[in-house]
Amino acid sequence: MTATILVVEDELAIQELIALNLKKAGHLVLCAETAEQAVKMSNSVLPDLVLLDWMLPDMSGLEFARKLRREERTKDIPIIMLTARTQESDKISGLDAGADDYITKPFSPRELLARIKAVLRRRLPEMSDEVIEIGGLKLDPVTHRVYAQANDNNIKPEKLLLGPTEFRLLHFLMTYAERVHSRTQLLNRIWGDHVFIEDRTVDVHIRRLRKSLESVGKEHLVQTVRGTGYRFSVEKSEESVE
Ligand code: CA
Repeated sequence: MTATILVVEDELAIQELIALNLKKAGHLVLCAETAEQAVKMSNSVLPDLVLLDWMLPDMSGLEFARKLRREERTKDIPIIMLTARTQESDKISGLDAGADDYITKPFSPRELLARIKAVLRRRLPEMSDEVIEIGGLKLDPVTHRVYAQANDNNIKPEKLLLGPTEFRLLHFLMTYAERVHSRTQLLNRIWGDHVFIEDRTVDVHIRRLRKSLESVGKEHLVQTVRGTGYRFSVEKSEESVE
């Protein structure tokens, strides 16, 4: 699981140590020493997760966590607070401010990586490497392959031909099967909140995805929910497939 992680920590020795360990684990790392720098960085690249020090020079980590939660673009980013404090009340205010977890300094790199993995798995399951099987489709995130099982089990599963965006779209929809996603949600999560992409782009890729699914008779799995968005469902759609 590779994630883009923003490390907000003003103690450079700790910042470097964290960055080194995250890179070794295969993550992409962005570093900031102040809340102001962190805001600038997340404006250009939206991180998958923020590691946030409790005490920053220009703003408390707590305030910064609240700020991230308030803004539409950053409100869903998982946050892990780094704190030297051990008082229970601080941990609670950290979680109240919207942090997903907290780590008390000093911590081992192994503990840090384990916490990150746990938070990512919980908050961003579409980043997981686990194979998903639903509705006769089997998607493998590691090999980027999707197989369709025919209704007759004696027939060999057929490999689906999908472009990279259609693959990610299908992965996301299958991860959250039965849940409805708006076009904006899909844009943010799959295209990485790129502001120059229009909502209609989603429809184009949904159409391409359905076309590939059609070749194996599974196009009914990707459904349009009128006025709302799209969902992956094994249940029959009440609405017609557009
Ligand atoms: Ca600090």
